[in-house]
Amino acid sequence: MKTKKLYETDGMLFSFRANVTETRKTENGYAVILDQTAFFPEGGGQTADTGMIANARVLDVQIKDGEIWHFTDVLPDGDTVECKLDFDERFRKMQNHLGEHLLCGAIHKLYGYENVGFHLGADYMTFDISGPMTSEQIREAEILANRAVAQDVPVRCYYPENIAAFEYRAKSEKLENVSDIRIVEAEGFDRCACCAPHLDRAGKVGLIKIVDAMHYKGGMRFSALCGFSALADYDSRLSEIRKVSALLSAKPNEIARGVEMKLAEITELKKNVGALKRELTARKLASIAETDENICIFDDSMDGNMLREFATGGMQKTSAVFAVFSGTEETGYQFVIASQTVKLKAKIPAFKNALGGKCGGSDKMLFGHAEAKKETILSFFQGNQSVM
Ligand SMILES: [Zn+2]
Repeated sequence: MKTKKLYETDGMLFSFRANVTETRKTENGYAVILDQTAFFPEGGGQTADTGMIANARVLDVQIKDGEIWHFTDVLPDGDTVECKLDFDERFRKMQNHLGEHLLCGAIHKLYGYENVGFHLGADYMTFDISGPMTSEQIREAEILANRAVAQDVPVRCYYPENIAAFEYRAKSEKLENVSDIRIVEAEGFDRCACCAPHLDRAGKVGLIKIVDAMHYKGGMRFSALCGFSALADYDSRLSEIRKVSALLSAKPNEIARGVEMKLAEITELKKNVGALKRELTARKLASIAETDENICIFDDSMDGNMLREFATGGMQKTSAVFAVFSGTEETGYQFVIASQTVKLKAKIPAFKNALGGKCGGSDKMLFGHAEAKKETILSFFQGNQSVM
């Protein structure tokens, strides 16, 4: 005897009594079949319900070859068991699922597009439709769906007698030739083929809000949240806005302007810092005497751009090699080596050997990261005047 699907006829049933008809040991727990169940097995894009069968926690529910298997952590005590669904999770799923029907129904009504994909978890919902939409059209569909909620239209789930002559939406043409198609109808608004449990009235969905929209495979992919999921999302966004507002000392509805002003400040500061760095580099260069020997300088106040600029000016100070290093013994040293006369690329193996790390660039300028100690690096450049 197949399990009676209580969730098909009453989506609002959250606790029930059932008889255990079969149990099996699995790798991580047990699999249980009941004579009737309100636990919805994963299917049609919706994840499985969770809850309790007597003392056993229901971790997953799957339908295999028409049998509904409840996967539990322990074996339920007794042959007749009290069962209870996780109410909050199931209720939110039903809010999101019916919200999706109402949105897809509105989009179909307004623009004729079909629903071609659907995923629903404990706190997320995405769906795909077959054509592109502008942001104004999305807004219009969202308002129409919310209107069905405001009108609190009744929702019924049933198997129509003559499905061939019946008008309804379906996710795909796969449903052709199937005689027992279950219809979920939001009265006067939408009819859709669906196997999931549903709320009995649209008003229970609460707010329907599209939170993200992207073009996808010639159509659109939407993320939407309804009811308590939408409320939680509103809470978390509001809390982020409050944090940003406090950081900017701006009113919550003026944070975009506040960020624009901060970005303009950062751009101005970067310009000033750039000018100061160039001035500092020029002063440091002016203090270096001209020589025919290698010059090797350690300066941990320099970033990559300053090192390059310093080396460009520094190689004018010597007919040999100019090298500048920035960093610490722990992190290693970022460096630039430059020369007007020595062809540097040919020296790369010698530099790598002496300095460790990486090194590359042109004949005039090499960039790299050294792992050798400061003392070793200094003595390499001082002791290799003739080699260069
Ligand atoms: Zn559905």
